[in-house]
Formats: sequence, C-alpha cells, structure tokens
Amino acid sequence: MTESIHKTNLLGMCPDKLEAFFAELGEKRFRATQVLKWMHQLGAENFDDMTNISKVLREKLKQVAEIREPEVVTSDVSKDGTRKWVIRVEGGSCVETVLIPEGDRATLCISSQVGCALDCSFCSTGKQGFNRNLTAAEIIGQVRIAIKSFGPMDPSKPRRVTNVVFMGMGEPLMNFDNVVSGIKLMMEDNAYGLSKRRVTLSTAGVVPGIDKLIEETDVSLAISLHAPNDELRSQLVPINKKYPIDELIAACNRYLEKLNDKRVITIEYALMAGINDQVSQARELGRLLKRVPCKLNLIPFNPFPNSGYERPSDEAILAFKQIMLKAGIMTTVRRTRGAEIDAACGQLVGQVEDRTRRSQKYIPIVQESTV
Ligand code: SAH
Repeated sequence: MTESIHKTNLLGMCPDKLEAFFAELGEKRFRATQVLKWMHQLGAENFDDMTNISKVLREKLKQVAEIREPEVVTSDVSKDGTRKWVIRVEGGSCVETVLIPEGDRATLCISSQVGCALDCSFCSTGKQGFNRNLTAAEIIGQVRIAIKSFGPMDPSKPRRVTNVVFMGMGEPLMNFDNVVSGIKLMMEDNAYGLSKRRVTLSTAGVVPGIDKLIEETDVSLAISLHAPNDELRSQLVPINKKYPIDELIAACNRYLEKLNDKRVITIEYALMAGINDQVSQARELGRLLKRVPCKLNLIPFNPFPNSGYERPSDEAILAFKQIMLKAGIMTTVRRTRGAEIDAACGQLVGQVEDRTRRSQKYIPIVQESTV
C-alpha cells in the first residue's frame, strides 16, 4: 500500500485520460485501448497479465502505475438473489453495492460517496453523515467487482450486469467529475459497453449538476422527488430549499430537450404512511407530474431502526398508484428486494467515518455495522 501512493491508479481513468497518460509516457494511443480492455473486459489484476503488451512497456508501467480496486469486505446473497457487497475504500470507510437480478436483467446499484451530505430525513445513508467523495476507480471498481464475482471476466459471454443505477450511497451530482469518469467507462465499448438507456443517475435535485451533466453525457435521469409541494419536500429533502420544485422540473425538461430522444425522467417517490401517501397528495402529485414527461416509481418506505417513518399499508400504496394511473402517469411500485440483508433502497449504511458530526445527533439510531 505504501509503495502504491506514488503510482497512478489506471482503473478509474476514462479513455481520454488514459490516452493522455500513455502519450506522456511516449507511447501510442492504442495502448490505452489495450489496457482498457485488459482492465475492464478481462479483469486483469496487474500488468503481467497483459500479454499483448511488450515486456519492456509492462516493466515501465509497473514502475509508475497500478490497477487498484477497493477491497471486498463481505458479500451476502439474500433469498431473492439480491447480492450486497460491503466494500472498503481507502481511508478505512466502507460503502455498499447491490446487484438485483430480475429475469434476464441484472441491475447494479452503486454508491458515489462515503455517506451523504444531503441529510434527507428518511434515508439511513444520510444519518451516517458524510466522509468523502469516491474516486472514479472506486466507482467503476464496484462494477468490476460485481462482474468478477461471476468468475473470470469474458466479453464473449452475455452481460452479467445489464444496468447500472447510481442509487446507492451518496449524491452523485455532488461528486460530479468522478461520477462522469465512471459513467464514461460504463458506456465505453472497450470497457463495459452499456448503452445510455441502461445507466441511470439518480439525484435528490442538484439543479446546476443536472444542467452540467447533459454537457458531458446522456445517461438516463431519475429524480428523488418524494413530495408534491415545496413545503413538504423541504422537510424531507432539505436541498429543496436551495433548488425548489419549479426549478427542478424546469431542469428536467431542459435535460430531456437536450437528450432529444423518447426517454422520460424517472420520478422516485418513497411512500411514507401519513406523510406523503394521502389521496390529496396523490392528486397534487398527478397535477405536478403533468409538467414533465416522466414515469413514476413508488418506493414503499424501507424501514430502519428509529427512522420515525412507516411503510403505508398495501391498500394505501395501491390506492395511491390508482390515482396516479388515473391522472395518466405511468406508475410502478418498486418491489422490495434484499430486505433481510439490508440491501433495499435507503438501507445502505456502509461504515462511514463521519466528518460532519451529523451522525452524533443520531447515535441511538445508527444501525449496527454490517461488517
Ligand atoms: N442521492 C441520490 C441517490 C440515492 S438513490 C438520490 O437521492 O436520488 C436512493 C433512493 O432511495 C432515493 O430515491 C432515496 O430517496 C430513496 N430512499 C432513501 N431512503 C429510503 C427508504 N428508507 N425507503 C425507501 N426509499 C428510500
């Protein structure tokens, strides 16, 4: 580890950066493509694996560079096939990554930060406080770890991870550059080759980040809305005070306009009993969502100790859904997956060495570490 401090980690470098790295070494650009393929399609652990690269260059690479991915601490599989990894990142904190298989799809839910600074009232990650942004290597490392868990990586085999969503720990738009580097690798043909429709960034509503994102990439966008009006949303999702609903909806429309294809925004709405699940709130939400092409994903609240919120009854969830459907909004209810291994939305806690001291406010609340 100590010796690695001065070496450049190539794992998180998007193609442009890797090309620049090889140019600086006085090497041809195609070396970047070769190394990308080795790292991301074949899962190479070190430069000696890279047999189509000359020994001389391999030795040179060993001197200055490394392939370093975060360390897997635990890997649990739940009865429904959902798999959760606890991953230790440099500095000792842990983040969580979840793979959700469903028919011929397998969606990987990745983390973008150690903890989260946004402090949404109903999210257990928020209660952990915030430590730091993940590096691009730690972001793409989660994808590599998941794919490698199926055995030797083999690009000729059907994809083991078909979709990636930034719905794990953290607010991806608060870690913009590293998240964008990770996205570029996910979508790069010489790396993971996922299509723009199969990579989704979910945000609590960082409006300037949404506008910046479309200049860099064209992934699908999900918004964690959770309330039909500013008064309630500001209580649940405090960043709403800075970027209220009108501004958020306008940013979503700008994003879709630039995408200029048939995609719509995914709206996430965690249903909490007596908080945001009332008939009148469903009607208000129906009116609001008329203003942006979208599909609505209702997430029945996933409980964690002392959260102070409850999941609505199945009847209430269904009634809410019916009102939305009647309002003409495409609506689905997210099935809870991996609950017994604490892998469901909002249950990801990792092990965050909090630097904000926020977690101290919640000491009795914090879940037992999963490690
Ligand atoms: N910060 C980003 C990425 C996190 S995505 C965002 O807010 O979009 C995680 C999703 O799960 C978000 O929609 C979040 O609001 C939701 N969520 C958080 N806690 C939850 C809980 N306890 N039950 C259900 N959904 C929850």
